Amino acid sequence: PLLSIRNLNVEYRLPDLKIAVKALKGVNIDVNKGDIVGVVGESGSGKSTLALAIMRMLKPPAIIRSGSIYFNGVDLLALSEHEFNSKYRWVKVSMVPQASQNIFNPTMRIKDHFLDTAKAHGITNENEVLKKASEMLEFTKLNPARVFNLYPHQLSGGMKQRVAISLALFLNPELVIMDEPTAALDVVTQMDILNLVKSINEKLGTTIIFITHDISIIPVIASSVVVLYNGEVMEVGPMEDIIIDPKHPYTKALVQSTPSLSSSADEVKPIPGEPPNPLEDIQGCPFWPRCPYVMDVCKTDKPGEYNVNGRIVRCYLYEK
Ligand code: SF4
Ligand code: MG
Repeated sequence: PLLSIRNLNVEYRLPDLKIAVKALKGVNIDVNKGDIVGVVGESGSGKSTLALAIMRMLKPPAIIRSGSIYFNGVDLLALSEHEFNSKYRWVKVSMVPQASQNIFNPTMRIKDHFLDTAKAHGITNENEVLKKASEMLEFTKLNPARVFNLYPHQLSGGMKQRVAISLALFLNPELVIMDEPTAALDVVTQMDILNLVKSINEKLGTTIIFITHDISIIPVIASSVVVLYNGEVMEVGPMEDIIIDPKHPYTKALVQSTPSLSSSADEVKPIPGEPPNPLEDIQGCPFWPRCPYVMDVCKTDKPGEYNVNGRIVRCYLYEK
């Protein structure tokens, strides 16, 4: 794999409440070169925390308690900040952050966003930077000569998203993490962005982690899928398997609650129960309070990762 996350644990320390909220628990994810890995989960499941952990951009009160994130075999979490920033962040691994429409500095022209980003990673040759930036803007179907001199407020939501994607790509990273890149866009613009993401993967060979709360997007974009629930990985597998024949009770519930993925309207069912309260540390399987198949063991012990025909499923129903 290009990226291999092992036993990643992230906490948010809330001093006022004198507790640590576990945002990611024992997360293992492999991302193969050339894949588009869809990471799906409800809000609060740890998706953005995962993205920021890979970029080493988590800020207090969030801390990485333990784990490793290997990129081509190098543990990114073991590097000095200087080494990570000059050799990896944005250079090999970059990100289109959540709500990226709001990442722009309103007082800076688009051109200066590219120059600034390059400079932050030690690249100072202006002509070279602007040449690469122009190529990427053209790739995303924007006119560089025009866009370079505009201020962020002069761009539409879709244009801003294209610029954010160009910014993530212009240093030629091998891996790009896109955090809800189509949220807050109208349906037509959403499709344009999804097609753009696919052409980035196909034509530039960029590996992509595509984060979404909306499982109905997954069949359109992903080659494989990671299902997150309450900071834990529930199921991992090829896209068709996960969508057509979900194994984990949570994945099943997620698919059944999504009209466009169910075979008929009367099969659409909301997920039973309430989403988990992040302040509550659920013992055992995090899905047990909502699971129709719950057994005694589920309430006390965490299921392991069981291999089901090449898929990983964390559920006692698939033990042995
Ligand atoms: Fe349900 Fe138990 Fe499987 Fe969790 S481990 S999903 S509670 S059957
Ligand atoms: Mg998020």
